[in-house]
Amino acid sequence: MSAKWRNLIVILADQLDNQHPALEAADTAKDGVLMIETAAEATHVPSHKHRIALCLSAMRHFAEELRSSGWSVDYLELGEGHASLADGLKHAVDRRDPEALWWVQPGEWRVQADLSSMAEQLERPVQQFEDTHFYVSNDEFADWAKGRKQLTMEYFYRQQRARFDILMDGGEPAGGQWNYDQDNRKSFPKSGPGELPAIPSFEPDAITKAVIDAVQERFPDHPGTLDDFSWPVTREQALTALETFVEERLPNYGRYQDAMWQGEPFLFHALIASSLNLKLLNPREAVDAAVDAWRQDPDRFPLSAVEGFVRQIVGWREFIRGVYWLKMPDYAELNHFDHQTELPSWFWTGETDMNCLRQTISDTLENGYAHHIQRLMIIGNFATLAELRPVEVCDWFLAVYVDAFEWVELPNTLGMALHGDGGIVGSKPYVASGAYINRMSNYCGECQFKPSKRTGDDACPFNALYWSFLMKHRDALGRSPRMRMVLKNLDRWDNEELNAIQARAAKIHGALS
Ligand code: SF4
Repeated sequence: MSAKWRNLIVILADQLDNQHPALEAADTAKDGVLMIETAAEATHVPSHKHRIALCLSAMRHFAEELRSSGWSVDYLELGEGHASLADGLKHAVDRRDPEALWWVQPGEWRVQADLSSMAEQLERPVQQFEDTHFYVSNDEFADWAKGRKQLTMEYFYRQQRARFDILMDGGEPAGGQWNYDQDNRKSFPKSGPGELPAIPSFEPDAITKAVIDAVQERFPDHPGTLDDFSWPVTREQALTALETFVEERLPNYGRYQDAMWQGEPFLFHALIASSLNLKLLNPREAVDAAVDAWRQDPDRFPLSAVEGFVRQIVGWREFIRGVYWLKMPDYAELNHFDHQTELPSWFWTGETDMNCLRQTISDTLENGYAHHIQRLMIIGNFATLAELRPVEVCDWFLAVYVDAFEWVELPNTLGMALHGDGGIVGSKPYVASGAYINRMSNYCGECQFKPSKRTGDDACPFNALYWSFLMKHRDALGRSPRMRMVLKNLDRWDNEELNAIQARAAKIHGALS
């Protein structure tokens, strides 16, 4: 019989927080930690091998760190006889006979529901701690949202900037503006981005190598390969990743945050989302590092870049989490446009003639990563225009990205990328024609389709899909002032052109169904 614990603290894969609230309240002499690897978490969507390896390696490293700080840790590895979180928890409760179960609020509604029902079955009281990793608690977000007809991220963001005194000069935003988006939409010159800073790469140690072997053996058919796995798996590595980003890529982060370039999957992006979402990094240290860099050297670290980065973390990330907990569980079922086309099988291979999608999906499958504008304006844009079923698109996004956890993936995909929530997250759909992709990337130069053509077999499929989407939803889209100018284009074309666009769109939809 193992030693009895007073409180059994469950730590989930995405709670690897060095300021874990339950650990801060616990006593190493009396309480113990339970960490469980389960195949179910890797297979409820067919997770990318990098995503599984990252979670498991980061968990095992965290458990080691806890042990060296004096914690008693029960760690159940894959294949140790438990099929699920419930099995693992029951086994641990039998072994440790705790008086109470403690955990921090899980990041996923499904896991929270599972844990609560397990606790009931095990007849143990539960203490659920607020996840203090975030700037804004769920209750605070609910208070902010109360009575608002539209949840506008910009207003939420401004309030948090002022509340936490981030990039503020007295009561005013630093530089006199809240938003520098107009400086942050540059494309690369024809010669491309030039020589890019190297991306930090973290050599697998013995723990990571053992995880890689286990993932290869147990999930051989999952997307991706682990030949060049190099994501940060410890807090120390995550801090190095943050430092390298700030020093080497932050100066250009804002300017080129919407730009894309074939063969360059990382560009000037931060690559810290997986570390933040596993809680290896605290958002406050990421924000402070960027703001400090600007305060010390504003010529090298422009305010537009730093504000763009702060907006992603203090604005979008917190807002998205608030929406998730405010709207779940019904949110996951929303399908505003009633899109019902099955996810094409080439989402799992990248084998499509559309070069922008081929490149973006191939980057994704190779690295478990694509940057935000590839996700939003290539994949999400196509999925909306092609009328793909949102639940399948969301599951795909959750499966293939190393930084995807449901609280962040779902509102970003369903709400922002697909407008499937009917406007809870964004006031209008993020859709664009081939002209936008051509302006922001060099993908079209290598494509068999022509971005300048709307109709004909060699016309860019995004074009006919885009204009037919606008025709179909003209009344609703016309309510957005930002869409009215675009919709005016439809009045300039005669019926023959409009019919040809619709025929081309119908052919593309037909080929997808
Ligand atoms: Fe994508 Fe169209 Fe450009 Fe081809 S032409 S890369 S399909 S936007």
